[in-house]
Amino acid sequence: MSHLFPTYGRYPISIVKGKGSRLWDDQGKEYLDFMSGIAVTNLGHVPDRVKAALVAQLDQLWHVSNLYQIPNQEKAAKLLTDNSCADAVFFCNSGAEANEAAIKLARRYQQKVLGNGRHEIITFARSFHGRTLATLTATGQDKVKEGFLPLPQGFVHVPLNDLQALEAAVNDRTAAVMLETVQAEGGVVPVDPAFLRSVRELCDRRGLLLILDEIQTGMGRTGKLFSYQHYGVEPDIFTLAKGLGSGFPVGAMLAKAPLIPAFNAGSHGSTFGGTPIAMAAVAATVETMLIEQAPERAAVAGELLMGKLRDALDGVPGVLEVRGKGLLVGIACDGPVADAVGELQRRGLLVIVAGPNVIRLLPNLLVTSEEIEEAVGLIAAVLKERAAVKPAAE
Ligand code: PLP
Repeated sequence: MSHLFPTYGRYPISIVKGKGSRLWDDQGKEYLDFMSGIAVTNLGHVPDRVKAALVAQLDQLWHVSNLYQIPNQEKAAKLLTDNSCADAVFFCNSGAEANEAAIKLARRYQQKVLGNGRHEIITFARSFHGRTLATLTATGQDKVKEGFLPLPQGFVHVPLNDLQALEAAVNDRTAAVMLETVQAEGGVVPVDPAFLRSVRELCDRRGLLLILDEIQTGMGRTGKLFSYQHYGVEPDIFTLAKGLGSGFPVGAMLAKAPLIPAFNAGSHGSTFGGTPIAMAAVAATVETMLIEQAPERAAVAGELLMGKLRDALDGVPGVLEVRGKGLLVGIACDGPVADAVGELQRRGLLVIVAGPNVIRLLPNLLVTSEEIEEAVGLIAAVLKERAAVKPAAE
């Protein structure tokens, strides 16, 4: 009997070892990993440079309180701000915590710096922002809220890509608009670029902050280091986690200079936020991404993957669309895909579900064309066999 809370629908396999794009279970079975721990191991499993930085740090110092200077934290923050539109970073331990920090910063900037009492955050239907009480309230999906009432106040949801609905939701309580450039958990749904530019313009016009949740789209995943860099807009605040530490748990909330005075000593904090070990992982991850040109490679590999999938799945009953950005790719189907994901796993390819009807592919950013070929072959075979036994939904 398990002594764990049943919070996850776990597959009956135990992964014990990983390297690059490959994983092995305790029976010695090998898997091609096209889910990367849900967009975490963006440099592949156990990347050499990050491992060396972690091993060196383990010999040096594990933990020091944020009451002292932490040179590694400064180094990681400089790497992130030098390569983004942000001027300051707050380090924490997860995506939900990064979004909590973003929500707190937006409210406090409006209330303490501008002194206008604004607090409402507008988010979007089908979004996903985390599992803490504030971030599950921000999330635009009812299933994550069931049984957790009462929810915190101050969150409003509107449909994605609907400018009229967004404009109608803005009032003199509105502090910020928060969104993902690709709704990943929600079914790999990319934002309309024109809508995102209009959101930026609306935020400027109405004195609102634009918060981008880059927890899944950041760290090279969409073909740029941060996904906003595709669209010619800059957020006031953005959040990172997942790929930031190559598997070491770490999150970050980044913001532009005018927001810095909104936080002072004591207004926010975290015991483990920015610990020397996490910072060694972050600095080595960002440096490796820059040296290896991982985002650029993800852009090329994403085109290759989506092109090959479209060719291989053209006309396959049940498959509606292949969509995504960079290496955040979804195969939208006309019904639940859990059976296909299970069959692919049996054949040695790890992928995951998004929405219930979308197969989500998240290979590491350094994936090879041979690995893409292998994955597409397996996916096409499974979806074709499945279509042959299961007529497409009406
Ligand atoms: N935001 C987005 C877009 C995510 O995809 C996730 C996790 O899937 C989160 C927030 C929450 O991150 P964490 O699970 O690290 O708290």
